[in-house]
Amino acid sequence: MSNSDLLQRSLAAVWHPCSQMKQHAGASAASPMIPIARGKGVWLYDFDGHRYLDGISSWWVNLFGHCNPRINAALREQLDELEHVILAGCTHRPVVELSERLSALTGGTLGHCFYASDGASATEIALKMSFHSWRNGGWEDKTEFLCLSGSYHGETVGALAVTDVALFKDAYAPLIRAAATVPSPDARLAANGETPADVARRAAAALESHLEQHHRRIAALIVEPLIQCASGMAMYDPEYLRLARRLCDRYQVHLICDEIAVGCGRTGTFFAHQQAGIRPDFLCLSKGISGGYLPLSIVLTTDAVYAAFYDDRISRGFLHSHSYTGNALACRAALATLDIFAEDRVIDANRQLAEHLANGLRPLASHPRVSHLRQRGMIAAFDVLSDDGQFPERFHKQALAREILLRPIGNTVYFMPPYVLSHDECDFLVAGAIAALDAALAA
Ligand SMILES: *Cc1c(COP(=O)(O)O)cnc(C)c1O
Repeated sequence: MSNSDLLQRSLAAVWHPCSQMKQHAGASAASPMIPIARGKGVWLYDFDGHRYLDGISSWWVNLFGHCNPRINAALREQLDELEHVILAGCTHRPVVELSERLSALTGGTLGHCFYASDGASATEIALKMSFHSWRNGGWEDKTEFLCLSGSYHGETVGALAVTDVALFKDAYAPLIRAAATVPSPDARLAANGETPADVARRAAAALESHLEQHHRRIAALIVEPLIQCASGMAMYDPEYLRLARRLCDRYQVHLICDEIAVGCGRTGTFFAHQQAGIRPDFLCLSKGISGGYLPLSIVLTTDAVYAAFYDDRISRGFLHSHSYTGNALACRAALATLDIFAEDRVIDANRQLAEHLANGLRPLASHPRVSHLRQRGMIAAFDVLSDDGQFPERFHKQALAREILLRPIGNTVYFMPPYVLSHDECDFLVAGAIAALDAALAA
């Protein structure tokens, strides 16, 4: 097998996600595709002996490197015990243990775990559960949702209703029952002299006036705590979450924290919302929770929501099912992932690694073509001043030439590396990215 063999067969038979396939075609493709033969730690290897440092954790899912020996061992053991069983009417050890451990991580405040296989499904489950729990409680009018501008909560038709990214949404607009949006607390929107907390308070004031008018019809507000990742790593002050929580309580609206991207230690605490000292009514997890091994998503919720469905009548139950709900292998991968967090004191270790990354990136703060250098925990980003629409592709290619896999979102270059990155690998990543930036801007 060679790179070009596999590439040709892939272009003929595989419809790749989030792509214009035509840009992948041909020897001088605008966006070259990389055939991956194997992975080890932070490195991906192709068939022709090249390697690439996975600077984006393979779309934000991989926490502890590729082919992690501890997760591999847990999965091998699980394979010989139970690969999967229907979760309607049956239960098994990995799903019970995972539910108990996730609930414990929320301090017991979110004691009920519902399972699916991907992030968009978790979003839809949280929306349906919120709506249905209000209806079961006699609040028939609460049929609408609220999201932030620039939000991303997945791309199924239901999840697109609360996603505000034009590229993903506009083509399907006629299919979507769009939620209302309120202003994002994105700290980059600061006017002269405003602090990130000021921006948060301004956005919260807009939320307040929206809720004041419309709360009777709104079931839930859905947010990505601290960082709106998919729309370009928009970071905001935790003050927004504190104020939003207070407003949701005052106006009887659920707060859904979508931590599909920012959960699992990404922002410096195990859950991002913990930095605001708040408790959501629903918490969505996916991406990193299985260590990047298997598709798995979870919606955690409160005793109050659970109680709203607990009844003799089936119609008052939560009527939602996925074939692979609570898959035993995926749950076991998640348990192995949580074991690594505990055994290696990952949250503490990441604090040093994040600081090392910040030190490496610091020179970019004075780069003439860079603005809004920003970081929270293990996510760092900066915006590139360039009105040339080809910058993202050019940067991507220049980074690949330096053995680095990074995929800018528009003109935002970001880093979301696996937590097993060594300090030397971190230096390699940063140096390569800076060189790629200058090469892409010079081209
Ligand atoms: C990736 C993502 C989703 C969607 O998850 P999928 O598994 O891709 O469906 C939802 N919300 C956020 C915040 C995400 O980053």
